[in-house]
Amino acid sequence: MSKRQQPESGSEHPLEEKPVGAVKRTKAAGSKASRVFTEYPAEQKQFFSTHLLAWYLIHRRDLPWRRSRNPYHIWISEVMLQQTRVDTVIPYFHKFTELFPTVEALATAPEDEVLKAWEGLGYYSRARNLQQAVREVHEQYGGTVPDSKEEFSSLRGVGPYTSGAVLSIAYNKPEPAVDGNVMRVLSRYFLIEDDIAKPAARIGMEKLARDLIPEGAAGDFNQALMELGAMVCTPRSPQCLTCPVMDQCAGRLAGREETLPVKTKAKPPMPERRLVALIEGEGENAGRILIRQRPQEGLLARMWELPHVVLGPSAGGPDAPMAAVSPGTAEPGADEAAAQSAAGDAGTVLAAPGDPGDAAAGGIAPASAARRGRRGAAGSADSPAWGGDARNMALLQSALADEEHVDVLPQEWIADTNHTFSHLYWDMKVYRCRLGGSAGAPAGQLPYRYRWMAPEEMERYAFPNVFLRVLKMYEEEHGPSRP
Ligand code: SF4
Repeated sequence: MSKRQQPESGSEHPLEEKPVGAVKRTKAAGSKASRVFTEYPAEQKQFFSTHLLAWYLIHRRDLPWRRSRNPYHIWISEVMLQQTRVDTVIPYFHKFTELFPTVEALATAPEDEVLKAWEGLGYYSRARNLQQAVREVHEQYGGTVPDSKEEFSSLRGVGPYTSGAVLSIAYNKPEPAVDGNVMRVLSRYFLIEDDIAKPAARIGMEKLARDLIPEGAAGDFNQALMELGAMVCTPRSPQCLTCPVMDQCAGRLAGREETLPVKTKAKPPMPERRLVALIEGEGENAGRILIRQRPQEGLLARMWELPHVVLGPSAGGPDAPMAAVSPGTAEPGADEAAAQSAAGDAGTVLAAPGDPGDAAAGGIAPASAARRGRRGAAGSADSPAWGGDARNMALLQSALADEEHVDVLPQEWIADTNHTFSHLYWDMKVYRCRLGGSAGAPAGQLPYRYRWMAPEEMERYAFPNVFLRVLKMYEEEHGPSRP
């Protein structure tokens, strides 16, 4: 993908993770928030609530999770919608609720199956946390999603946004559900210039949003706010002329609708170079690919991937030392939620220079396009950050041998791929390899996390998108029945 993977444009909600330790509400922050965010004219607030709700009841989209008040299903939808567009979520929601229609079904399902059902949606910690929380509901609450804020908020992965959304939509509890979209709408309508990246602003917005909830209509009102942010008061080019609250929107009246909200930019992700081995089996493993499982904890925990190693810091250039990804070590920035907080878990196979090579956010660049323009080339197109294919292949071979005790014989470069997390950018080169002395050997001679995977077995393993794309590219080019 020519641009780094970003959260899906127009995604419904920023990723929410339960804070590790509650955000400390200092006296100063709390008092500032309450002063700033409650001093708006009652008439302006009343106008907002009334007109927004009326608009929503007429214009709301017919979405599958809006067709019932099943709290378990609403919960699933809210988790899926974090960082992800509605269009992307709908098929996943259908599939997931078919596979795991009840709290019990999800609570008792093997994690592999849950991750597989989530495969491609990204932010896999969401799926793991959801299942863990659902298990708590199954065991401690008899399978009924609790309707008290205290109990629901205590579940794994449930932060203030998810709690407010589920409790208001499913149980009509007057709880605010404030995410980035809601903060954008409120910033514009009330002309709030506080930095929404700061905890004090969020706290203030939650107070304000709570204040705005019309009596008895919490679920509809919260969804109305979200709907306005998704459909009208969009990040770029808000559709003010069709907005139900335009007449009293202070941001629009001040000509600030395009410049609000105020939000400090996150640091750009740190680049990492990775060399990937696509290892083809021979003999009794002919037609299979060697895969390995990621560590139990950390980024993309327990998902499957192609064996790969990390080069030293990019700043070190091609001579930088190499370190293999240790099987028992979490990735840098081990907390997946943090790593992915600003980006979808999706990357893509890079196109050759000059190719458009990108797809819409969350889409997949066709694998064949990734190699078009390079077919017939002797190797990958090197940038100064890379050391050339011969050197890369030698490094890949030695690092996998040293760190994993896997003897590979790299044959040729086959693709470039990349993947962005919020603070990491994986720049990857993929090399087709054979296994050395143990080619065709039983799996027992490989590290325990390794498996030979036949094409038809891909359905059994959950891969992050970045590896899924490489595997699909390979399958497209070689066919699933390659001998
Ligand atoms: S008038 Fe424009 S800026 Fe104001 S809330 Fe509506 S869409 Fe947003």
